[in-house]
Amino acid sequence: MSDKKNRRVERARQRERKQLLQKLVIATLLVVAVAAGVVMMINSKSTTKDSAELYKNQPMIGQADAPVKIVEFGDFKCPACKRFTIRDYPQIKKELIDTGIASFYFVNFPFLGSDSTTAGLAVESVFAQKPAAFWDYYKAIYDAQGDERTNWATTDKLIEIAEQTNIAVDVNRLRQDIEKETQMQQVEDDLALAKKYRITSTPTLLVNGEKIKFEDFDDIKQAVLKARDEQKAKDEAKK
Ligand code: CA
Repeated sequence: MSDKKNRRVERARQRERKQLLQKLVIATLLVVAVAAGVVMMINSKSTTKDSAELYKNQPMIGQADAPVKIVEFGDFKCPACKRFTIRDYPQIKKELIDTGIASFYFVNFPFLGSDSTTAGLAVESVFAQKPAAFWDYYKAIYDAQGDERTNWATTDKLIEIAEQTNIAVDVNRLRQDIEKETQMQQVEDDLALAKKYRITSTPTLLVNGEKIKFEDFDDIKQAVLKARDEQKAKDEAKK
């Protein structure tokens, strides 16, 4: 073969190698892009915390289709929960729940003492008997809250609170339900939820599934209105 021919063959080979390399690069990029897409899909699934499990079988007040869902994780023995229920909750009810902006859920996170669980059993029993009576009983227990360091949330005390509040439940049945721990599964389910959402203190609020930091009602309102706007934008995008 002449030198000229040799060079031509060599150039042709180089061209082929270059094309093959280009094809390989494109194929690799495609594989990487698909893999990245899959990872993003998995991530977006696992970070979507605002799932139905958070609200299932929980006491709720407000409109079920409100754009924002607030979840309180609370312990009836926790003084900060009492403060929240007496000071902030009425404003939440008036400005956010009654206006249709938010619905409000309560989940037990009884961690302060064994009588936290007794109180949890009591509210779950009232909820099972008469869901509508839940919120009056919830407030009444916080109103009657004793010293955090004592085991004040006894069955007798919880029955006394139910009687004094005149909630529309059969108190004999309520006593039986507390003593026989009829609703223990509900309390345990709540605890599992608290663990899953990494709740470490009370009261903790989730706004559309996201934990928020708050000092007072204004912080809560701001978070709720922001969540409402985000939800609105999401709904618009779907149209
Ligand atoms: Ca519950």
